[in-house]
Amino acid sequence: MKNILDKLYKDNYLNKEEIIFILDNINSKWESYLFKLARKTLFRTYGNRVFVRGLLEFSNYCRNNCIYCGIRKDNKNVDRYRLSKKEILSSLSESSRLGYNTFVLQSGEDIYYTDEYLEDLIKEIKLKYPEIALTLSIGERSFKSYEKLFKAGTDRFLLRHETANSTIYNNIHPDMDWNRRKGSLYDLKKIGYQTGAGFIVGLPEQTNKVLAEDLLFLKELEPAMVGIGPLIPHPNTPLKKEKIGSPEKTIILIALTRLLLPEALIPVTTALNTIYKYGFESGVLAGGNVIMLNISPNYVRKKYEIYKNKETKDAKELDIFRKRAKKIGFIVDMERGDNLNFRGNKNV
Ligand code: SAM
Repeated sequence: MKNILDKLYKDNYLNKEEIIFILDNINSKWESYLFKLARKTLFRTYGNRVFVRGLLEFSNYCRNNCIYCGIRKDNKNVDRYRLSKKEILSSLSESSRLGYNTFVLQSGEDIYYTDEYLEDLIKEIKLKYPEIALTLSIGERSFKSYEKLFKAGTDRFLLRHETANSTIYNNIHPDMDWNRRKGSLYDLKKIGYQTGAGFIVGLPEQTNKVLAEDLLFLKELEPAMVGIGPLIPHPNTPLKKEKIGSPEKTIILIALTRLLLPEALIPVTTALNTIYKYGFESGVLAGGNVIMLNISPNYVRKKYEIYKNKETKDAKELDIFRKRAKKIGFIVDMERGDNLNFRGNKNV
């Protein structure tokens, strides 16, 4: 185990068999060693900083039927909402006053928000806040659409690949297709977005071999950001009887990702924080370096229920995270927090 972990630290690469060996055999002693190497790598790239993003969930309408997701189209118990331009701008203005410099606008795949609508919105946001980094997380669209939204001023795009195993992908995403998902990620990169991929831990049929495929897919794609979170079953979805994804395994996968992609921005996800009281601390100590706090208006927050008991931490709770970060030797950084390879940002 030591040889493989040392090799990973040195080369930032492992083959499939080596990754499977780690996942099959790691114990608490080697976990501590893995996390230490992941932290050393993080200190070398971004230092002891945790970047903070304001997350605005602006619509829970979705045309898809992902079998794990609480806001899937066929869940008729969802109280659907869409925020107007005015509501979106007002949420951003409040968070900007709190010092936030990066915003993530997330929604289901909602075609109500046409390219023209979003282009206007993005331009208006960028006119008001020229210095901020704007991220979209709105699912799959055409190359042309991604290109228009980029030209309008969007900096980043989050689109998790969910699983790199095409059979599992196609089974859990009716009417969607792995090749299209993968194609969208390469489109986003080609256009120039800081692109985020990532996967869910604990999906049905997901073995360590499949997780190794996820990590190798990430290594090949080289995304700027990687979100990894445990599955949290939602009672109104076909996966209601599935077990919760393992937080321990999620944290190991965060550490392996840090070592495979030293320059990736890796959030400690809301899902991990929801099922694990010390998710934030454990995730950061394993190489995670981003936290997303919620800036959606209170009156819609509970309605964006992708899984049960979603632990939405409010943007105003920043001080709590400052203290929690300090306790483990980190500081919360409110700057844009770009990936090191973007904006000529080699000296971030
Ligand atoms: N529609 C956009 C997309 O497809 O990228 C963004 C919104 S989607 C709700 C955001 C993420 O939530 C997904 O990428 C998925 O990984 C995660 N998610 C949905 N349901 C989940 C669940 N039950 N447990 C854990 N993560 C979940």
